Amino acid sequence: MSRREWLRSAAAGVGSLALPAEGVGTNWAGNVRYTGARLERPGTLADVQRIVRANDSVKALGGRHSFSAIADTRGAMVSLERFDTVSNVDRVARTVEVGAGVKYAQLCPQLQRQGYAVANLASLPHICVVGAASTATHGSGTRNLATQVVGLELVDGRGEVVKLTEDRNRNELRGAAVGLGAIGVVTKVTLRVVPAFDVRQWVWENMPLAQFTAHFDDIMSAGYSVSGFTTWRDDRVSEVWVKRRADAGDWSLGREWYGASPAPRDRHPIVAMDPRACTPQMGVPGPAWERLPHFRPEFPPSSRGRERHSEYFVRRPDAVAAIQALYGVGGQIARALQISEIRTVSEDSLWMSTAQGRESVALHFTWTDDDADVAAAMPIVEAALDRFGPRPHWGKMHARTRAQVDAQFPRLGDFRDLCRRHDPDAKFANEYLRRYVLAN
Ligand SMILES: Cc1cc2nc3c(=O)[nH]c(=O)nc-3n(C[C@H](O)[C@H](O)[C@H](O)COP(=O)(O)OP(=O)(O)OC[C@H]3O[C@@H](n4cnc5c(N)ncnc54)[C@H](O)[C@@H]3O)c2cc1C
Repeated sequence: MSRREWLRSAAAGVGSLALPAEGVGTNWAGNVRYTGARLERPGTLADVQRIVRANDSVKALGGRHSFSAIADTRGAMVSLERFDTVSNVDRVARTVEVGAGVKYAQLCPQLQRQGYAVANLASLPHICVVGAASTATHGSGTRNLATQVVGLELVDGRGEVVKLTEDRNRNELRGAAVGLGAIGVVTKVTLRVVPAFDVRQWVWENMPLAQFTAHFDDIMSAGYSVSGFTTWRDDRVSEVWVKRRADAGDWSLGREWYGASPAPRDRHPIVAMDPRACTPQMGVPGPAWERLPHFRPEFPPSSRGRERHSEYFVRRPDAVAAIQALYGVGGQIARALQISEIRTVSEDSLWMSTAQGRESVALHFTWTDDDADVAAAMPIVEAALDRFGPRPHWGKMHARTRAQVDAQFPRLGDFRDLCRRHDPDAKFANEYLRRYVLAN
């Protein structure tokens, strides 16, 4: 079938459709060219079962926003974009069922209209709910997004439908919620929701590093969600974004906060970039989902794709020492770096979560798109953080070895067993997972 024929039949909405190879494309930033033989767009659970049974190698694709090759496969790539419904808001249990193709930008306004919200969000709403949970995506000040998952429906490696719920399969769900795409093709999640709430956000500029490190806990708990942005140079933190619940009372601003001054207008985390892509600041109240992410859904986020990302998680008590270590190498990574972000993530018990078993601080790097510079910078950062036992973000780039990854995820053995149980023929394995996660 030619690409044109494919597009015609796709428009007609026929069940399971395989896009010819040239349509598989790349991730959002363009640094991973997917090697999949074809892209399938199933419309029903039975279609997904058929695809899994018919292929030796299968991988579900979310919003393509990961920078690592975690979503790649040489076999069939499966887009769940036709699983796009939000249903069954349960007002007693405070849960909602979300199709695997749904992005936060689609979910949140629908929840808002019904008086609900999700408690935590990442910096962007462009990603799929399932894609985010699968890599332990997080925001700041709260637990990571996968902790909202109280139920999963997936097609396992045998093509069977598996349903996991918090009530009946609590332990297994802890393994599968951050599933790294390795357990099965998730078709639906049940999420815990909270009553809708409003948030106001303020940006403070040029906080002296000495103030930031001396008062780290006070600063990072000044709001529901707080982020520090820095280039690890000039002994200052360029911006501190504070997002507070609107019902938390007034926050008298003053002209100075720990040596920082209030931004006179909206800002972008990368100081020179246009803040129109960013969510409203200056204390203007609005729904949480329009304030907790830094970026608006209708604009390309961050550096508009001309970027690579890395992120490492260390124990919160090590935060100040780790931050000081990074300021020590700031000059060496300057060429590769656009901006860094410092966030806090609460401890959870999800096996493959980067905050599993430890209160964490997340140290993020928005690199340029110069791959040689980035490849040179990552080991410098990792050497500076090594003594803190850094855990790399599954959806971002890193230069860790298998042994280093192994040492930081104590439930990895249990996760491997879970993968083997649900995927005995390793259909969901790929190069990335074989290298860092799955049994050899
Ligand atoms: C500009 C930008 C900003 C970002 N900000 C943040 C941030 O604030 N915090 C943070 O933690 N991360 C952040 N990230 C990283 C991003 O959130 C993660 O990489 C996330 O996993 C991307 O979700 P996705 O829907 O694009 O999934 P993809 O990248 O498409 O896939 C990710 C993984 O999920 C699996 N998957 C997807 N759908 C399914 C399914 N239906 N069944 C089984 N497995 C599935 C894939 O197989 C793959 O393993 C950012 C990325 C970008 C580009």
